[in-house]
Amino acid sequence: MAQLKGWKEIPIGGMILEAGNAVEYLTGGWRAFRPVRGEAACTHCFQCWLFCPDSCILVDAENEKMLGFNLEHCKGCGICAAVCPVNAQVRRKAEQELDRDDPRLCIRIIEEGQAEE
Ligand code: SF4
Ligand code: SF4
Repeated sequence: MAQLKGWKEIPIGGMILEAGNAVEYLTGGWRAFRPVRGEAACTHCFQCWLFCPDSCILVDAENEKMLGFNLEHCKGCGICAAVCPVNAQVRRKAEQELDRDDPRLCIRIIEEGQAEE
């Protein structure tokens, strides 16, 4: 984990003095949950890429493929799983509300430290 700054080193009011510097901070270090790709077939629709607030969806732009997650910056919010249309289809087919770590889902949200299986 990155060295924490003391209060004297933090700008007054926590102001961000350099815009666009989020990439320098490994904010994934305090994540409690993380996304993993489940068994269902990803259609590479890029909805997760579009909605991820931290730009953590890794894509192969040339071949138009979703590759996975940048876990150095992912904060585990679960938005990618919530907007994934394949997840919606799996839920509809199951005709029931599924746990967010259900293996049938395309993007599962699991607890940090839990094995992916
Ligand atoms: S869990 Fe949140 S931050 Fe992480 S990849 Fe999904 S949408 Fe992005
Ligand atoms: S939203 Fe779901 S189906 Fe679409 S690219 Fe992301 S993981 Fe694949």
